[in-house]
Amino acid sequence: MRTKDSRTVLRGLGGSNAPRLPGALAEWNRQYEAGEKPTALKLKKRFNEIRREPFPWTWEVTKNASDQPFLDLGKAYTAFFEGLKNGKKRGRPKFKSKKRSRASFYLANDQFELGDHRIWIPKLGWVNMAESLRFNGKVTGARITKTADWWFASITVELEDAQPDPPHPLTHAVGIDVGLNRLATLSTGEEYENQAFLKTALGKLRQANKRLHRRVKGSKNREKARRQVARLHYQITCMRDDVLHKLTTRLATCYGIIGIEDLNIKGLLKNRRLSRSFSDAALGKLLNLLTSKVQQRGGQAILVGRFFRSSKTCHCCGWKWEAMGLSDRSFICQNPTCAYAGFSQDRDHNAALNILYEALRLIGLVDQAVNGIGSDEASAGNENRLPLDSPPRVKLQQVARSDHQ
Ligand SMILES: [Zn+2]
Repeated sequence: MRTKDSRTVLRGLGGSNAPRLPGALAEWNRQYEAGEKPTALKLKKRFNEIRREPFPWTWEVTKNASDQPFLDLGKAYTAFFEGLKNGKKRGRPKFKSKKRSRASFYLANDQFELGDHRIWIPKLGWVNMAESLRFNGKVTGARITKTADWWFASITVELEDAQPDPPHPLTHAVGIDVGLNRLATLSTGEEYENQAFLKTALGKLRQANKRLHRRVKGSKNREKARRQVARLHYQITCMRDDVLHKLTTRLATCYGIIGIEDLNIKGLLKNRRLSRSFSDAALGKLLNLLTSKVQQRGGQAILVGRFFRSSKTCHCCGWKWEAMGLSDRSFICQNPTCAYAGFSQDRDHNAALNILYEALRLIGLVDQAVNGIGSDEASAGNENRLPLDSPPRVKLQQVARSDHQ
């Protein structure tokens, strides 16, 4: 939703949420330090007692726009204390900054109204929406947020309990190798490149970032440059998500069993290079989208442990190329009795096939790992026990063919 006239009002509503409620957090901290037990409701009561004087603006905006910050703050503190209990470190709630935080506010279901393609917001009236609500059910609330220069309405709808999903109609299985060089390689040999647009867009983003840092702090031009960077970030995310959605929908529809490597996202995200961080985020999102879409359709997504050596192992005989480096783009099996001996296989395709076999083994469709390359403990002991010249397992070969159907 985006109309020029509505923007100022929306900013007023969204802005009133946090940055201009400086008292709430300070009051919370004061009560906490004084040994009192602050709660969101207590705090709100106190705020209502005193707000007429120093906060006359809260009477101008909607009721919920000034309720929600307290509930949010309560939630943040609950998470903070839960974190302390569980030994997980989580930062104490911080003062919001207008620059760093997203403008947003919440509306309860009696605070707004939905029409065909439009939403009625207090103080603003009807605002056009880019699409109409797709779900039929009880509307429980809406959150209005701002990303880059666009306003979004997230509407929560309670749906009737869905019937349990029927199992996926297809039993085709596929293994997927995901990576930074090529987005995805399937065990069928299909390849999905990382889109070239990302490179172009990243170049633009880099330039915009440079411009931003040349501008004088606090100046209007800096604000302009900052907004451009935000817009570019958002656009890149949208383009990338589009690719990921199309790929994952296709996979989840065409295959009932999907093997994919579990990723160490936290480790990946330590990388600070711009292009890398975008690809890393893409891999995480791909995994999330895929698992949820596969489950929705009644299929199975099998996560193969990330210590499983899918790249260094021959998918046919299990021979391991220990010295294989990151730059080796093709896998060449050196086992003289292997059908693929001396034959150059695409690195990622070979990995995808290994992931497929391992996934099938994990769910019990194949009873033995290819020469002990399993990712779990049970098969780890088997390593090197099977002779290298044992013939490729017939069962596995059948499975391999089934994904070409
Ligand atoms: Zn081999």
